[in-house]
Amino acid sequence: MTRLNPEGIPRNQLMYALGNREMVAFRRKMDSCFLCCRPDVNEAGLCRYCYSALDTPEIQAAVRWTSGVGP
Ligand SMILES: [Zn+2]
Repeated sequence: MTRLNPEGIPRNQLMYALGNREMVAFRRKMDSCFLCCRPDVNEAGLCRYCYSALDTPEIQAAVRWTSGVGP
């Protein structure tokens, strides 16, 4: 059972979170960014500020959501 946490997650858990359909759906439903809890998140559950600051493996995981492919 995935523990859904309405608070932000540590950056080192982002890759795991982006591979978890339930966690991404939860952030979108809450409209709360994974990392900073800002509203107005995209399909990957990230705000535009955090999204633009991702590293390469993270952006690849996030793009699968924003492009509609899924995890
Ligand atoms: Zn953010």
